[in-house]
Amino acid sequence: MSEFLKTALIGHPVSHSKSPLIHNYWIKKYGLSGEYGAFDIRPENLEEGLSRLAREGYSGFNLTLPHKERALAICDEADATARAVGAVNTIAVRDKKLYGMNTDVFGFTEHIEEGRAGFDFTAGPAVLLGAGGAAKAVLQGLIQQKAPEIWILNRTREKAEEMAFGRPNAYVFDWNKREDILSDANILVNATSLGLEGKEKLEIDLKNLNPGALVNDIVYVPLYTELLKQAQARGNPVVTGIGMLLHQARPAFRSWFGVMPDVDADLLRLVQK
Ligand code: NAP
Repeated sequence: MSEFLKTALIGHPVSHSKSPLIHNYWIKKYGLSGEYGAFDIRPENLEEGLSRLAREGYSGFNLTLPHKERALAICDEADATARAVGAVNTIAVRDKKLYGMNTDVFGFTEHIEEGRAGFDFTAGPAVLLGAGGAAKAVLQGLIQQKAPEIWILNRTREKAEEMAFGRPNAYVFDWNKREDILSDANILVNATSLGLEGKEKLEIDLKNLNPGALVNDIVYVPLYTELLKQAQARGNPVVTGIGMLLHQARPAFRSWFGVMPDVDADLLRLVQK
């Protein structure tokens, strides 16, 4: 029998997360020995919490709100993607050291590829709504996929400017210009929390949107947000946000268990319940 590996999500809160469902599904599916739990740890206790759990024999962690940026500073080492994004969503404990990664970038690019195979990121500008933690990973994904220009709009413009700093192809526009810059968009991504169940609506009229533009909402509750419904009604191709959640989990799982898991129909049904 292989060694029993303990892994966990750390956030504040954590109860809403589907990550335990996903990773425990894969542990069972691949006949592995381990568990994936969840710990609600307050921001001021993150460093102490991570080192305590590592001492208790945990092999790896996922980080969710509000810990991803602070985790980068706490890790002993971090990969190039995590450093480029400025955030860590996955930690592997190796020789008692914390090794940070960011798999949200892979999750974003992979779910677009899965949802729209052959989508050409280089064909025109990308419009990115948001400048929070998730938007930073999306921005890095767009850069890696060589989007020629990335137009960023965020309610708090300073945060968009900070995010775009040092990125030669990233340009910032005022949030209230979001309906005026859509005619040349190759892809429109909502990476704000607007449209999430229980949150405010994303107010946007897509009447000027390039008819061929791909529309992606990384909000996945509900699966088909008002933004995606509006885009579909106009005939634009759409990709939901659930794939990003599932695909970011794959390299994280591999870093702990050594198996690159796949996203199958049963898992998709499980997370959409
Ligand atoms: P975050 O760091 O808190 O950022 C929230 C973003 O939403 C900021 O850009 C914020 O703008 C904007 N926003 C919030 N309320 C707004 C309002 N009333 N009007 C305009 N803009 C508003 O959160 P995050 O980690 O980036 O996550 C954002 C969303 O992405 C989450 O709600 C979650 O649903 C989704 N998500 C999905 C995945 C996935 O795997 N599919 C992964 C991570 C996150 P300001 O800067 O002006 O506050």
